[in-house]
Amino acid sequence: MSKNVIVKIIDAPGWMNNFLILNSLMLLSQIPNPDPKFLQLKNQLENLGFHVMIELPPKRGAYGLLRETDKKIWINPVVFDLNIGNQVLIHESVHAAQVCAGKGKIKVLGLDIQPSNYTRPFFLRYRNVHRQELEREAYAVQSHPLSFELAISLLQKHCK
Ligand SMILES: [Zn+2]
Repeated sequence: MSKNVIVKIIDAPGWMNNFLILNSLMLLSQIPNPDPKFLQLKNQLENLGFHVMIELPPKRGAYGLLRETDKKIWINPVVFDLNIGNQVLIHESVHAAQVCAGKGKIKVLGLDIQPSNYTRPFFLRYRNVHRQELEREAYAVQSHPLSFELAISLLQKHCK
C-alpha cells in the first residue's frame, strides 16, 4: 500500500505531488485516531520495546502479526474499517506478553480463561499444537469482556 503511494507521487506532476502527499498524510492521521484505548495500548507496547506499524503484514490476509525476532507488530489498516482495531491490537498484545514471558522465545502464559466458542475455528485451524495453544490464549483474552484491561495487565506482568 505505501509502495503504491510512493510510486504515484514520483510519477505525478508537481502540483499533484502536494495533493497526493497531503492526501496520504490525512489518511495516516485518520487511521490511529479513532480510539483512545487503541492508542494507550499501542503506546504501552512501544514503551516496552515493541514497534507497532499500521501497515499490511508480510503474511497475506492477516489482520495482525507479531515477529518475535525484532519485536515488530503489524496492524492491517483494514481493521479500522472493520471496527476491530482494538480487538486485533489486544490479540497481538497477548503474543507480545508471551514473547516477554519466554524472554524472547514465545511461550504460553498458562492463563486460566477459556476462549468463547465462536473463536474456536480461528485457533483450531493451526496445525502446530504449540501455535494452537498460543493462539487459544490470544483469542481467550480478545473475546473476554475485560479484554483491554487484561491485555494491559499481562504486558505489565510479563514485560519489564
Ligand atoms: Zn495470533
